[in-house]
Amino acid sequence: MIQNPLPWPHGARCAVAFTFDMDADSILHLAHHTSADTRVAALSMLRYGPEVAVPRLVDLYTRFGMRQTFFLPAWCMERYPAAVETILKGGHEIAHHGYLHEHPNACEPEQELYWFQRASAVIARMTGQRPRGFRAPSYRFSRATLDVLVQAGLAYDASLLGDDIPYLLENDKGQIVELPTHYAMDDWPHFMVSRDLAYMMSPKSPQQAMEVYQAEFDAMWEYGGLWIAVWHPFLSGRLARCVAMAKLIEYMHAKGQVWFATLEEMAAHVKRVIADGTWTPRVDRLPYYEGPIPELGPATPMLAR
Ligand SMILES: [Zn+2]
Repeated sequence: MIQNPLPWPHGARCAVAFTFDMDADSILHLAHHTSADTRVAALSMLRYGPEVAVPRLVDLYTRFGMRQTFFLPAWCMERYPAAVETILKGGHEIAHHGYLHEHPNACEPEQELYWFQRASAVIARMTGQRPRGFRAPSYRFSRATLDVLVQAGLAYDASLLGDDIPYLLENDKGQIVELPTHYAMDDWPHFMVSRDLAYMMSPKSPQQAMEVYQAEFDAMWEYGGLWIAVWHPFLSGRLARCVAMAKLIEYMHAKGQVWFATLEEMAAHVKRVIADGTWTPRVDRLPYYEGPIPELGPATPMLAR
């Protein structure tokens, strides 16, 4: 089912990382700059992430002896230093997720670089280490993002959805390890409801969401894949969902032969097996297109709406 499976450490059947994007209220300020301060209920829902969910999640993973990767917009780090301290104390990795959750593909390349460098400096100052990995806010990887990551010497990107196992992203400037996920593994489509952010979907029960995550895990376990969840503390750190999360972790441990690791450790493993010749990755070359496809010129009438 997977054409080019890679050897996981200790003979594991698959690799698993629960990653958490602690966006807090950055997304509300980004969406409603001049009125976010007046949207108190929405702020309280989003602040639940750093204030309540992060300590709970760190406790949970300490109980299981697991370390995870947390992606934090740097503005959230400055705003919620206690959450940063809790995450670091738990031994987890903090990775790059923009400054204020700005969308790289809505930025000019020099703006993108400015926010990237500003956020990197905050991470270096508050964690004592430069960031090793990046996830584009809202998956908005731009045509310039790979250049920025290569130039900054990052070890991996975790923004894209192009495979079931790691692969290499490459352009004229260089290469980076891609650790992919996909939307079914994100908690947003399962749980997000917010009038202020215009998401009015019916939330799934924790069990329904876990059914999706578990099916993904079972398939990855069977065929040697990479299971990366993209979860938000303010969504998945809610009590009933956290209880279900603990059951899923127990299920994974009981099934066994799983490599639990941070994304930094996964990227290092990928580089190791490439270097020692035990695995040859698929290489995805960017950009996919130089611009809008020529078949639909500017004068072509709309063919779909
Ligand atoms: Zn985010």
